[in-house]
Amino acid sequence: MPATELDQVVNLCKRRGYVFPSAEIYGGFRSTYDYGPLGAMMLRNVKDAWVRAMVQLRDDVVLLDAAILGPPAVWEASGHLANFTDPLVDCRVCKNRFRLDKLDDPNTCPSCGAQDSFTEARAFNLMFKTHAGPVEDAGAVAYLRPETAQGMFVNFANVLNATRKKPPFGIAQTGKSFRNEITPQNWIFRTREFEQMELEFFVPPAESAQWYAYWCAERLGWYVGLGIPKELLRLRAHDADELSHYSSGTSDVEFLFPWGWDELEGIANRGDYDLTQHANHSGEKLDYFDQATGERYVPHVIEPAAGATRTLAAFLLAAYDEDEVGGESRVVLRLHPRLAPYKVAVLPLSKKEHLSAKAREVYRLVADRYLSDYDDTQSIGRRYRRQDEIGTPLAVTVDFDSLDDEAVTVRDRDTTEQVRVPIADLLATLQAKLGF
Ligand code: ATP
Repeated sequence: MPATELDQVVNLCKRRGYVFPSAEIYGGFRSTYDYGPLGAMMLRNVKDAWVRAMVQLRDDVVLLDAAILGPPAVWEASGHLANFTDPLVDCRVCKNRFRLDKLDDPNTCPSCGAQDSFTEARAFNLMFKTHAGPVEDAGAVAYLRPETAQGMFVNFANVLNATRKKPPFGIAQTGKSFRNEITPQNWIFRTREFEQMELEFFVPPAESAQWYAYWCAERLGWYVGLGIPKELLRLRAHDADELSHYSSGTSDVEFLFPWGWDELEGIANRGDYDLTQHANHSGEKLDYFDQATGERYVPHVIEPAAGATRTLAAFLLAAYDEDEVGGESRVVLRLHPRLAPYKVAVLPLSKKEHLSAKAREVYRLVADRYLSDYDDTQSIGRRYRRQDEIGTPLAVTVDFDSLDDEAVTVRDRDTTEQVRVPIADLLATLQAKLGF
């Protein structure tokens, strides 16, 4: 059963090295988190799995890695300077701040319970502002990007010229984004610094509805394919009053978090809004000339925008399980092998030197192909439990018989079944079990 309490996963992540509160020795820093030895690898795996699905396994999407710092002109054109705001209210009694649109009851303070204690809502811009260069004047103002998407729009012509792609085609990007969230909350679900995975898919205007439906289905399927049970996911279409003025359709992929359904990803049909805005503000042509039909048009954009760090939380929550093995309870993270930090653990039965040499040899063989852990510290039972708890799909045990029969035991995390395999066949066996 997936985690029912957020704390089950938060504690495991802290203890085992997935996610640490940032600057903890100084008391932590405002809902900021660091990804530890396991979390750093898993976060890479989440992004790699996304790039694999969105870029590698198709021929109509290319990758981009754009700058985080940007000039005000970009955010002026995108509408972020004017509109990327949340309605902020203060409680006059306890002085806490809230996002008006996220309050369950707009008359009651969720902190102190005071009635009608809120100030008038004011628009609070979520972008982090800084200065580029040594002089802190207006001409040096820069912003940290609040989304990766604008990098794709401002590079539309560059990518078109460099790649000879034609609509329908997409530009994909993963990377850090920053939002000065009023109420960061729920661990790594909403933080001020986070990672996104976004695709801007440019299509002929007449095809936008069909591509929007295509990407909604495709993106929901991505989470299912990486092991989140279908019943913990849903696609929720926005009501008309939730839509931004340029969007003719937005759906969220939602996950059933311990606190209820909440967004993992938004898929929006953005029309020609972004390219037109940047064309008008920059004076550059951002359109496509179709030589086959002689037609020039501004492509429409379908945008699936996901969060890598938020999604990592969902994968961990869904994978968390407690069961019983041989009368003993265990915690197991049933992570998809592509997401698991270590794919394989190599475990010598004892620390005796002649066994270590063999185990090291097996480790080198396996680690060349798969990121692997080598652990000879405690009893074998405790080492299995530890690997189960961090989600390692397979354990390879090297025992004294291995020295004679040149074979090892492969143990499966989920079933705990063990099979004896000749070392000569080990890589093929691991590949068959992991699926890659
Ligand atoms: P919300 O309404 O929850 O603030 P949003 O609808 O503004 O989010 P988008 O702008 O659509 O979010 O961003 C796309 C994705 O980026 C989100 O679905 C989420 O996964 C991720 N994301 C956005 N803001 C944050 C954040 N503060 N922390 C972590 N992930 C975030």
